[in-house]
Amino acid sequence: MTAIPTPNLPETYDVARVRRDFPILDQRIHGQPLIYLDNAATAQKPRAVLEAMDRYYREANANVHRGVHTLSERATALYEGARDHVQAFLNARAREEIIFVRGTTEAINLVAQSYARPRLGPGDEILITHLEHHSNTVPWQMVCEQTGAALKVVPITPAGEIDHAAFGQLLGPRTRIFAVAHVSNALGTVNPVAELTAQARAAGAMVLIDGAQGVPHQRVDVQALDCDFYAFSAHKLYGPTGIGVLYGRREVLEAMPPWQGGGDMIRTVHFAGSTWNDLPYKFEAGTPAIAEAVGLGAALAYVESLGIERIAAHEAALTAYALERLGAIPGLRFIGTARDRAGVVSFVLDGVHPHDLGTILDHAGVAIRAGHHCAMPVMDFYGVPATARASFACYNTRGDVDALVTALEGARKLFGGRG
Ligand code: PLP
Repeated sequence: MTAIPTPNLPETYDVARVRRDFPILDQRIHGQPLIYLDNAATAQKPRAVLEAMDRYYREANANVHRGVHTLSERATALYEGARDHVQAFLNARAREEIIFVRGTTEAINLVAQSYARPRLGPGDEILITHLEHHSNTVPWQMVCEQTGAALKVVPITPAGEIDHAAFGQLLGPRTRIFAVAHVSNALGTVNPVAELTAQARAAGAMVLIDGAQGVPHQRVDVQALDCDFYAFSAHKLYGPTGIGVLYGRREVLEAMPPWQGGGDMIRTVHFAGSTWNDLPYKFEAGTPAIAEAVGLGAALAYVESLGIERIAAHEAALTAYALERLGAIPGLRFIGTARDRAGVVSFVLDGVHPHDLGTILDHAGVAIRAGHHCAMPVMDFYGVPATARASFACYNTRGDVDALVTALEGARKLFGGRG
């Protein structure tokens, strides 16, 4: 068994044991052992999540909230139990502040349409940054078109960090909303969100943090962050696809109209008019993703069993190792060199298009992502059409990094070893 020492922690982190929790990792791709380094796109699921969802369908499946029969009560208890779990995980004040949505994208669209659209008009500004995912850009562009508000963008430095001076200048009395990624999926930059939030709130803006890449890599405390909204997707945190979370400050959510109409979000319906259910149900129209909520709850329990700080330390050690080893490859250029970064490494290799690199690496069993990473403005900033991106999770090893380096060396030779 390989036990990798984690920095700053007395205990060891038994990555071999962690790997055994993820059945999908135990397979060959094109005859090679699978090396999964596409975790920023989606993480693999531990047995605990697979089993919790399977058990739910075998033993408890029913629709939630409206049934009085035993299965419905079981399903409701599991679904609402998952909400309690998320509340504790984010340290939210109340369970009413946890809205289940399809994912980060839906959470941001909900805020754009239910919070921003009714309130904003010409003269108002929404502030984002140059390193946002399209999910934290396009919903704001849409709401600007709908309301006449203007979208402002905080520039980034060549290292891929937010330009603080420019942020201070762009933030003003017209800024109604500041929406920012906790961690950039394209560059790995960890933004100082507590500091940015304090500054934006002091200027009178509402703050939304896109936590899609935040929650998998560090402990998140929404009370300490003091943000108004925090969004994340379960599937990047070892949970299933199809479910995510919008945390919202209670008084803000109370003041927002529902976004979608349908079952569960109403109190009364008459043709003359309808009235809305209490939080959080006001924002959960229709049958929710029940099994997925159960899976999310199991994923949180799994992460807690390993310890998010220990996962973060393991990933930090791996990232440092990857930067060292990749940095020694001739012709390889990192895209994004922020001082504070999560387990995401973007790069280009001279003479090899990232898409070709992705295909060659796949033949060596190494799964990375190649493309614009839903962050085209970031690609524009660096003047590249795409990058190759390796991203780490709790089950990755130094051996995975070594396999990536070997495969990259092979690709370099294949393309004539330029650079
Ligand atoms: N924001 C960031 C920073 C992301 O990395 C992603 C997904 O890659 C999203 C938002 C969108 O997440 P989802 O597709 O799960 O809604």
